[in-house]
Amino acid sequence: MGKQPPRSAFVTGGNRGIGLAIARALAESGRRVSVTYRQGRPPLGFMAVRCDVKDGSELERALQQVTAEQGPPEIIVSNAGITHSTVVTATGQQSWNAVMNTNLTPAFRLARASVSGMLAAGWGRMIFISSVVGLTGSAGQVAYTTSKSAMTGLARTLAWELGPHGITANVVAPGVIGTRMAEGIRPKRRDQFLTMTPLRRYGTPEDVAEAVRFLASEEASYITGAVLPVSGGLGMGL
Ligand code: NDP
Repeated sequence: MGKQPPRSAFVTGGNRGIGLAIARALAESGRRVSVTYRQGRPPLGFMAVRCDVKDGSELERALQQVTAEQGPPEIIVSNAGITHSTVVTATGQQSWNAVMNTNLTPAFRLARASVSGMLAAGWGRMIFISSVVGLTGSAGQVAYTTSKSAMTGLARTLAWELGPHGITANVVAPGVIGTRMAEGIRPKRRDQFLTMTPLRRYGTPEDVAEAVRFLASEEASYITGAVLPVSGGLGMGL
């Protein structure tokens, strides 16, 4: 996989963690990268737009700015995400809504808003950052796991609808990756995950970014509707 044409690539939550590693990998490949950030400083090296993805009009404005500066996104990576760790009976409506409105609804909105630009280009890559627990389920993470498994339905429907136009839609399902989000997992639970991970280490943001870089590449043109685990084998075979 060599240098890639400078297509416009948009990554949500590209200011830290996995999203930042994805943005760096795509930029290094030659893509024109833009990212959203919600708080803190914008990352250096890409176009950065302040945006809370929960707010549909902010997301729309961010896409307009990106389109004006570097053309309509031909690669989108829906990465911004949160988790609330509560069992089903302790999950209030607000908590459920916060997780869905951050993880799932913006993925749909971003995909929908990007279709026309991708159709015009006759080319597109949609990538959704899900989680292995979206495949396995996970006690104490009902909203999170539901939001993540729904991404598969979203991607596969997009794959059917947009495949004839050269647009692919795929899901990446990370295992435990060493970011601030993983720091929120109880140590005992983290240890359990490690025991169930054949490669016996946590992943790095760069491990995930390499998978995304590939799925976003020109060479990945015959892969769509796939769920690619980047998990050290955690949850394999599902
Ligand atoms: P981090 O907590 O390190 O980063 C989360 C990112 O999402 C930040 O950029 C954050 O922006 C952004 N974000 C959260 N809420 C919003 C919002 N409302 N609007 C805009 N941006 C928002 O987590 P990771 O990098 O680990 O997670 C990235 C993705 O990978 C998530 O979807 C997560 O579910 C998924 N994942 C992570 C795993 C892990 O073990 N780390 C495992 C499996 C999946 P800000 O800095 O502004 O808050």
